[in-house]
Amino acid sequence: MDASDRLRPVLRSFEPYDPAFSPCRVNLSANENTHELPAEVRSAIGAAFRATPLNRYPDPMANALRDALAARHGVSRERICVGNGGDELLFNLLFAFGGPERTLVTCPPDFAEYANFAAMCETPVTGVWRDAEDFSIDGDALVAAARDAALVILTSPNNPTGDLVDRALVERLLAETDALVLVDEAYVEFAPEGSSVVDLVATNPRLMVLRTLSKAFGLAGLRVGYLVANPAVVDALGAVRQIYSVDVVAQAVALAAVETRSALAPVISDIVSERERLIAGLANLAGVRTWPSATNFVLARVPRAAEVRRRLRDEHSVLVRDFSSAPGLEGCLRLSVGTRDENDALLDALATILREEA
Ligand SMILES: *Cc1c(COP(=O)(O)O)cnc(C)c1O
Repeated sequence: MDASDRLRPVLRSFEPYDPAFSPCRVNLSANENTHELPAEVRSAIGAAFRATPLNRYPDPMANALRDALAARHGVSRERICVGNGGDELLFNLLFAFGGPERTLVTCPPDFAEYANFAAMCETPVTGVWRDAEDFSIDGDALVAAARDAALVILTSPNNPTGDLVDRALVERLLAETDALVLVDEAYVEFAPEGSSVVDLVATNPRLMVLRTLSKAFGLAGLRVGYLVANPAVVDALGAVRQIYSVDVVAQAVALAAVETRSALAPVISDIVSERERLIAGLANLAGVRTWPSATNFVLARVPRAAEVRRRLRDEHSVLVRDFSSAPGLEGCLRLSVGTRDENDALLDALATILREEA
């Protein structure tokens, strides 16, 4: 018997997500925070872990964590929904609000999971493609597409292009369309102060903001993300989610991290200054083009990108993400910003390879 014949037709083209990770000396492929967490955060996390009984089921509502996140954003608990990473919330959003005849509008090139989850939930997707040169969004085209849509997802700052979405465009979408609007702010901690639109949630029942502990907080392995949204959205997602998807360890550790988050500020500012140093270093390499970034990664167009990426991995044990065959990202690699030593290793290896490839 071949079980694949019996799969729901819409799921037949999907394959297990296997990024084929090769252990590398320097891994700058997944936008993780590679800095060591500050001692204060590490000790709070350790204490939280030790105090957590594993024989008990989690609080399915994760209320202690929701309260800490609500306090962070100055909203009430009813506006916070936690998930097993931002990914679970994205899936549940499509599961709850998508489906046949409910179009999702996105602005590719963007995060590939949106289209994957939409396909799984049989949700048609309209892509309003970004400008091929500077990745800017055509606001008029976006608003026009969103008029017929159930849901719009904007990524700010965007993965993998690194740029922010204008606050005015978010406001315009809310004013001129009837769509639910999700702003995915997975990287917003690396953007200039005032870049978030989370404050608009209080007055816009159709706006949702996604955050994660996987990037700036340095907890990608923990799998915790959350949504700030209208209580009706939070309830809808609460009703469809796997009730224990955020486990006791994840809740306790995330709570400790959120409570000690001010200690993270020096790590974040180091990553931001390393990002600018990386961009400056890349500008010295012949044939390399970069774009400005408000994130912890840099998109770079390099000659013979796929080969350069392979040689970085095989000859220098440096792993980066290859987007060179993705539509709209021809020749592009995505370089996560690491520690100073990691970024130097990347720059040195790239300089060597590009000299040899020239
Ligand atoms: C990393 C990322 C997320 C969420 O990741 P999780 O680890 O599932 O929390 C969401 N959106 C974008 C654009 C991302 O890059």
